Amino acid sequence: MTELAVLAKYPFLNDTKEYIKSIGLSVEELLSHPLYERARTIGIERLDNALKNTDVGDSCVVTDSDCMMVVLSYPIARMVAVCVGDTYFKKRYALGEAYCAYRNLLDESSLFLLDAAKELGLHAGSIEEKQQIRLYFKDYLRFAPTHYKEWNMTNRTIDRGFVTVSQKDLARIILEVLRKRINDELDARECDPLAIRMFSEDIKRFQNIVSMQKKKMEAAPVGKLSVEKLPPCMKYILAAIQAGENVPHMGRFALVAFLHSLKLSPNEILKLFSTAPDYEEDKTRYQVEHISGKTSSTEYKSPGCDKMRTYGICPQEKIDELCRRVHHPASYYSAKWRQEKEKT
Ligand code: SF4
Repeated sequence: MTELAVLAKYPFLNDTKEYIKSIGLSVEELLSHPLYERARTIGIERLDNALKNTDVGDSCVVTDSDCMMVVLSYPIARMVAVCVGDTYFKKRYALGEAYCAYRNLLDESSLFLLDAAKELGLHAGSIEEKQQIRLYFKDYLRFAPTHYKEWNMTNRTIDRGFVTVSQKDLARIILEVLRKRINDELDARECDPLAIRMFSEDIKRFQNIVSMQKKKMEAAPVGKLSVEKLPPCMKYILAAIQAGENVPHMGRFALVAFLHSLKLSPNEILKLFSTAPDYEEDKTRYQVEHISGKTSSTEYKSPGCDKMRTYGICPQEKIDELCRRVHHPASYYSAKWRQEKEKT
């Protein structure tokens, strides 16, 4: 069994799950027994930190008993996150856990990283003579932030289906695998009624914070753009970018080209992207200026609904009545403005 301090740093590992099982605690004990009060406090801190700092943070861990409390705080935080019942909140929390793991993984040996990668289902191995790591190209394409130039496949060495990556790259890819995994797990879970009772105040507090943050985002004036009137596809892509998700290149491209067609300047587009937790101004500016024709010879057109559907970035479950009457996201946006004018 891995030592407790390691489990406290990486509570998503199978060994941690085994450890929690081996203690034989019931959910009721975990959520209400005075012995686990400290674990409950750390669980709430994890969520607060994820919202504020995009990193659940490391609690002070000195003794084995501290480590145990940190390990137990993980399932508690997850239960509360599910009960907050908000997609954006769950995404922020999942990113906070994944980012914390990433930060810690940067200090680990390549052997540890490879073990963690394999446990998370990645096909990775080492190239010993070069002290490099190789990752199966399908895993790379699925999880690497290829919207950034240095991650683009054209800038990577590929040999017999494996892409060469550094230790830091692998840690970044693990971040993305974890973020997705934790988010999917939270989405699949039901809220435990006891968790609602025990954490009702914190749950309400988190719901209020999220609702205020959303209002702030929607109300933030960016040129003449009204975020409320955006079509479901663009709202969806923008929300994913702002929540720090690894949005595929086509999604980013469609959003930037769309915003450019509404006459937003590159700076205004950057302002919208800047709330993303892993926002990097230089790299994002490069993409935005390229798509909007400022630094390239082509001014790209924003794709219509048919193309959006072909690329799988028209969210079928979110389309509304107006979507059925338009053929282009820009027409949706203008129709929304017209509807509002007619009302006044
Ligand atoms: S139908 Fe068109 S406007 Fe509506 S969500 Fe899909 S792509 Fe966007």
